[in-house]
Amino acid sequence: MCYIVDDIDIPVLCYGLRTDFKGELFSGSHYLLAWADKLVELKTICYCGRKASRVLRYDGQGRVMSDGAQIDIGGNEKYVSVCRKHYNEAIREVKAAEYRS
Ligand SMILES: [Zn+2]
Repeated sequence: MCYIVDDIDIPVLCYGLRTDFKGELFSGSHYLLAWADKLVELKTICYCGRKASRVLRYDGQGRVMSDGAQIDIGGNEKYVSVCRKHYNEAIREVKAAEYRS
């Protein structure tokens, strides 16, 4: 895309998610963030009112998932945007439950 912009002189707009439900960069996002001329962040709000910067993934029984394949197509039934604080609290609860069982 950089070649299209620089050599052919065609503007390119890209959209993507920054991180997955584990807080890891998507590989495509890595290069978009590294090479983009301009970044515009579309903000979402956590239920507590803070900026939602993380995404929780839920399984079919409504439990937060801390592991799994990076890509799993789904909508509001599977993904919830939350702030870092509530993401970390939810993941700690999952890890504690896994440790107890
Ligand atoms: Zn929150």
